[in-house]
Amino acid sequence: MTKRVSGDQKSQDELVELFANANRVFVFTGAGVSKESGLPTFRDLDGEWTKYDPMTFATLDGFLQNPVMVWNMYRKRQKQVAAAQPNPAHIVIAGMESYYPEFLLATQNVDDLHERAGSRKMVKIHGDSQRVRCLDCGESRCASDFDLPDEFDNDTLPKCPECGSLCRPDIVWFGEYVPQEPMFAAVNAASRCDLMLIVGTSGEVSGGYGFAEYAMRRGAKIVEINPSEGALTHYTHYWIAEPAGAALPPIWRLVAATHPRETSD
Ligand SMILES: [Zn+2]
Repeated sequence: MTKRVSGDQKSQDELVELFANANRVFVFTGAGVSKESGLPTFRDLDGEWTKYDPMTFATLDGFLQNPVMVWNMYRKRQKQVAAAQPNPAHIVIAGMESYYPEFLLATQNVDDLHERAGSRKMVKIHGDSQRVRCLDCGESRCASDFDLPDEFDNDTLPKCPECGSLCRPDIVWFGEYVPQEPMFAAVNAASRCDLMLIVGTSGEVSGGYGFAEYAMRRGAKIVEINPSEGALTHYTHYWIAEPAGAALPPIWRLVAATHPRETSD
C-alpha cells in the first residue's frame, strides 16, 4: 500500500493535510539525517565501518584489547561531530515538537545534531558519541567535562573522576543491549502515535520493525523519507524517496502556513 510520492501537487497536498491533522507524532531517525550534515555513516555499507573492523572498533572486547587505538578513532569522530552543523531536516524536526501536543523523536544517531538544532523531546537509543561512560560504575559524563587530548596514549585515556576506572565511549556497541529507558519511551510513543515519520534509516536495527508494527496496530499513518528503499518501506503509507533535508522543509512550511497552531511553548 506504499505510495511512492514524487513532487506532484496532489501528493504534496495529501502530505500537508496528514501532517497538519496529526496530534501524536513519533519520529524515528537514523544515519541518513547525519549524512546530510557531512557525517559519514557507521552502519551503511559505504560507511565508516568498511575502514574499521567492527569487531575491533565496535565491541567491548575490541575496546578492552586496545583501548588507545579504539579511543583514538572515537576521538576523531567526536571532532567530526563537533565540526558538523545541523541541516534543514534536523531543524524541521526540532520545530515539530512545539506544534504537536504529543511528540517524541527517537534517534539511532549518536551525534548531537538533533540537540543542537533544538530538539528536546527526544531519546537516543544507541547512546551518545559526545559522552564517555565509566566501565566500572557506569557513570556517564560529557566528553567536554574532560580535558581530552587529540591523541591518546596509555597515560591519557579518560578515567572516571569518581572511581578512577577506565571510561569508554557512551555508545551501544554490537552485541550490547540498547538502554531500556529510551527504548521504553520510544515503544510507548510508537504505540500511541497517529503519525510516524521514518527519516533517513533503513530501520533494520534496534526495534525499527517493532516501532512500525506498534504504530500500524494503532492505526497510525506512516511516512518514510529516505532516498533508498529500506526494510520498513513496505510498512509505510507514503514513501518520499528524497533526502530529508530537501523533502521536509517545503512540506513543513506549507503546514505552518496553512494550518497554524498555538504552539505549546
Ligand atoms: Zn566510575
